[in-house]
Amino acid sequence: MPAELQAPAAWRTVDFISDLHLEAHAPATVAAWQHYLHTTTADAVFMLGDVFEVWVGDDAAQPGSFEAQCGHILAQAAQQRALFFMPGNRDFLLGSAFLSASQVQWLADPTVLVFAGHRWLLSHGDALCLGDTDYQHFRTQVRSPAWQRRFLARPLAERLTYARQLREHSEARKRASQPGDYADADAALSLDWLHASRASVLIHGHTHCPADHALAADLRRCVLSDWDASAQPPRLQVLRGTAQGLQRINLEST
Ligand code: MN
Repeated sequence: MPAELQAPAAWRTVDFISDLHLEAHAPATVAAWQHYLHTTTADAVFMLGDVFEVWVGDDAAQPGSFEAQCGHILAQAAQQRALFFMPGNRDFLLGSAFLSASQVQWLADPTVLVFAGHRWLLSHGDALCLGDTDYQHFRTQVRSPAWQRRFLARPLAERLTYARQLREHSEARKRASQPGDYADADAALSLDWLHASRASVLIHGHTHCPADHALAADLRRCVLSDWDASAQPPRLQVLRGTAQGLQRINLEST
C-alpha cells in the first residue's frame, strides 16, 4: 500500500506542480515560481519532483548559492501555506537538512492524497516509464541507500562534475531521439497503482507531456506540464484541486 496523506479538513484548494527544472541560468522561471508561491490561493502546494534541474547534495546550499536562494523562497512561502516535495529523477538527493531548513515536508513516491472526498495518487512518474529499461536500471542503482551514501561522501566539486556529465549525456540522447522515442507511463502499471491505492486519478509529471488520459471508466491519469517562463508562450501551468475536481490553470508570466 502506498503512503497516505490525509488533508486537514480546513483545506479548500490544493495545487500540483512539477518539472520546474529550476537553475541559476533560468531566472525568469525562478521569478515566476517565487511569485506563484506567494500569490496562489491554495492551502497547500505539492511539488512532484524535478523542482530543481540538478541536486547533488544539501551541502550545495552554501550561503549565497542558488540553492540557498531557493531555500529562502521556500521558507518564506511556507509561512503562508503548506509545502510538500516529492523527489524526481533530478533532485532525488534533496535531503532532510534542506527540507527542514526550508520548512517543506517530504512525500514518498507514490502517496495517496485524501482530500475533500477524493483519493488522488501522486507520483513523479519516472518509476512508471517501464519502456525505458536503461533508465530503470540506473534508477534502481541511484535510489539505493548504499549508492547515495557513497556518492554524498565524494567532494562537492566532484559531484557537480558528475552531474554535468549526466546532463550532457542526457542532452545528447535527447538530440539523437525521434518523436515517440521516450517511454510514457505504462498504462497497466498505472492501473495497478490506482487499484492498489483505491484512487481515482493518478497525478504525475516527468514526461513533460501534459494531458489527461482515461485508463478505465472513472480512472484517469493526469500529467503535469513542465515550466519554462522564457518559452513562447510561457509554460507556467498549475493543476488545481478543489472539492469539485481538478482544473489546469495557466499563470501569467511575471
Ligand atoms: Mn523527471
